[in-house]
Amino acid sequence: MDIVVCVKPVPDPKQWSKLHLDPVTKVLRREGIETVLNPHDKHALEAALQIRQAHGGRIGVVSMAPPWTQEVLRETLALGADEVLLLSDRAFAGADTWATVPVLAAGIRRWGRPDLVLCGAESVDGSTGQVGPQLAHLLGYASLSYVCGLEEVSPERIIAHWQVEEGYAQVEVQLPAVLTVTRECNQPRGLNLMGVVQARNKPLTMLTAADLDLDLDRCGLGGSPTQMGDMWMPESGRRQVILEGETEEVIQELIRRLCQVAALPE
Ligand SMILES: Cc1cc2nc3c(=O)[nH]c(=O)nc-3n(C[C@H](O)[C@H](O)[C@H](O)COP(=O)(O)OP(=O)(O)OC[C@H]3O[C@@H](n4cnc5c(N)ncnc54)[C@H](O)[C@@H]3O)c2cc1C
Repeated sequence: MDIVVCVKPVPDPKQWSKLHLDPVTKVLRREGIETVLNPHDKHALEAALQIRQAHGGRIGVVSMAPPWTQEVLRETLALGADEVLLLSDRAFAGADTWATVPVLAAGIRRWGRPDLVLCGAESVDGSTGQVGPQLAHLLGYASLSYVCGLEEVSPERIIAHWQVEEGYAQVEVQLPAVLTVTRECNQPRGLNLMGVVQARNKPLTMLTAADLDLDLDRCGLGGSPTQMGDMWMPESGRRQVILEGETEEVIQELIRRLCQVAALPE
């Protein structure tokens, strides 16, 4: 089975306080902030590795990201992917999901005709969960999101556990398909020295807009119906107030203050 895993390098959540918006373009400035693999995507890659273990085939990683994410994407090769296509061009900057998906689709077509495309259910920064289903639509593939378990996999179909509010539903999907997976789907393997060494000899190819069959009007900030208005970090930390006095007085004062912040109806 030929599988493509879509992997998004994201700013390290531990350093988000350093993130800021470019005041003019309203594009997120990430320079100087460490980049990590989107956590959900490690589960997507693990699912691909387990399927290859059972059925053979190739695993390609496709990522739309800045050129300096090559090192972090090499981690997917060390974990077991066969090759990485890094789709990188200034024309892709500031893309919302609508403008991200044509680039990913063009990269996937450049890689081949995969039987299965695996994505994470969500990214930790944009967190829209829109990319997987949009990609399936653009590729003409079946789509299943929030997969929390793979019960049966064959080159023709997959029986999956689909996360629903009350638990999960068992769903059958015909291939080719795009599946997005949750963290419950599996336990990603860790890096090992052999994998890191082998990764050095595996191909990581950077492709620009010129290398891809793309309508540039559909890409980047210009091709994005969603424009970022503003972004700020909410103040964290609780204000501590100690109320002193007779119990009844304290209760009355607490109610008065809760009404003040509208936490309780007047
Ligand atoms: C704080 C913030 C808020 C945003 N809000 C919106 C918004 O409301 N609407 C909107 O359209 N865009 C929004 N964006 C932009 C959005 O992050 C980008 O369009 C992004 O490339 C895709 O959307 P996502 O991160 O929500 O992906 P999701 O749909 O949450 O990602 C799901 C999966 O798709 C794959 N994937 C996503 N992006 C890539 C990529 N670049 N390369 C490879 N695989 C990928 C990964 O497997 C990922 O796990 C926002 C960005 C930020 C930082």
